[in-house]
Formats: sequence, structure tokens, C-alpha cells
Amino acid sequence: MASAAPIIARSSPHVHTQFCDGRSTAEEMVQAALSKEFVSLGFSSHAKQDFDPDYSLDEAREAAYIQEIKRLQAKYADQIKIWLGMEQDFFSTANKNQFEYVIASVHYIKMPDGGKLAVDSSKGQLEVIIKEAFEGDAYALAETYYHMLGQFVKDSQPDIIGHLDLLTKFNKGKSPFDESHPRYVKAATGAMELAFSGCELMEINVGALARTGTKGPYPALPLLRTWRELGGQVILASDCHLAKYLDSSYETGIALMKEAGFKKAAILGRHNELFEWHKVPD
Ligand SMILES: [Zn+2]
Ligand SMILES: [Zn+2]
Repeated sequence: MASAAPIIARSSPHVHTQFCDGRSTAEEMVQAALSKEFVSLGFSSHAKQDFDPDYSLDEAREAAYIQEIKRLQAKYADQIKIWLGMEQDFFSTANKNQFEYVIASVHYIKMPDGGKLAVDSSKGQLEVIIKEAFEGDAYALAETYYHMLGQFVKDSQPDIIGHLDLLTKFNKGKSPFDESHPRYVKAATGAMELAFSGCELMEINVGALARTGTKGPYPALPLLRTWRELGGQVILASDCHLAKYLDSSYETGIALMKEAGFKKAAILGRHNELFEWHKVPD
């Protein structure tokens, strides 16, 4: 029942719409947020990039997106706080000054031919990346992916670190990654240490649960524990692409947060401060 949900569940900083690869309009997302008694909502379109145009904003859609979110901010000002953000990929060319907050993510790997392939498109494409860019060595991909993310966060100082271990989306039965392999653990831990100097807030992203029904939240529990030990903080994020899933799997995300030992978590603020902090429910 929505009214019984802990207050920590009533927000999301990670929402996509038809301006990028989402399936709902921005206003449908606001309507869903209101019906689920959200207190704040953040839009995070995939920021402009000069490749893969179906997936992200382009020049024209970026302008339209900003205009529409500002319209919704005004229209719903007395009902819900709406934030204008973007999800900035490592290869994005967007100017972050136009946005109120930034989620930093790595989705793509640069291939030997200069093209870029996403690690979260399909298992087949992930295998192509490993074979053609890393001579079949999955851990070399992990080392590259994590180093890109850690350095990107350190350099760009975003507000939130996006889906830390996205590269495990198609992982099954320790294939292609055994997530306890020393090279894997070292790469992921190194990225968190590097990232921490640029941003102390990481999302617990439950989006893939609603969309694919298989993968657990990002990041996996051992990595989330490491993040807490480093002094990092967390925010629950739905990475929502369809309005009805706006708070889907939030119980799972909160359970993971508790299991990793976090006592408090951020949500997007209701007023002028970007974040406010809430006690993780017992
Ligand atoms: Zn993403
Ligand atoms: Zn996203």
C-alpha cells in the first residue's frame, strides 16, 4: 500500500522519458509519482552524445527536454518538487551547467575500430566487446570499465554515481565475470576509491529488476559493503523507463541498503537543497 511505504521510497533521481530511451512522457512520470505519493522526482535523460542518437538526447531534444521539465516544475510546484537532471555518459558531449544535477555513468567501451559498444545491450554484444577489444579476457574489460568510471567521477565531480557494476547485467553462473575473482574485485574497489574523491553518493539502482526481472540491484552486495567502508553514501534509484515501474523493486533496494549496513540514505530534496537524508527503516 503506497501510504505505508517508508518515506525513503518516495522519490527517484533516475528517470528516463520519451526524450531519450524511456517509454512514458515526462508528465506521465509526474502523474505516477503523485499517485505513488512521491515527495520529489528527478529527470535524468541520457545526455547529448555524438553517436547512438536513438538512445540519448540530441541538440533539439535537449532543448525540448529542458523546456518541458521546467514547464512541469512550474505546473506541479505546489504538489511535488521536480528536479532537472541528466545522466552523463563518459562519452557524452553535454554541458552540465544547464542541469540541476548529474548522474555519472559508463555504458560504452571504445572498440578497436573506433566505434563504441554498450556493455548493457545484450549478452551477445558483451561477448563481442570482450573478444574484439580485450582478446577474450573478460577481466581486462572489467579493469578498463571500472577505471573509466572511477576516473570519470573523480574528474567530473557529479552529484550521483550511476549503476556501478552495469557490466554485470548479463552475468550468469560466473560468466563472463566471477565477481569474487581477485582481478574483478581489485578493479571495482579501485574504481570506488578513485570515484570517492569526486563524489560520495552512489545510487542503488533497481531498474533492471523491473525491466528484465533477473539481475539484482546495482551494485552487488559485496561492492556496496566496500562503498560503505570507504565512507560512501547511497540513494535509491529506479532508473525508470515506464511510469508504472516508478517505485518497482524499492523494497529489494531498501533491503540491500540495510544488509550492507547503511543507517541513512539520501533522497532528492523537497525544497532548495538537492538532497535530504532519511533514516533507513528498521
Ligand atoms: Zn545508465
Ligand atoms: Zn539510466
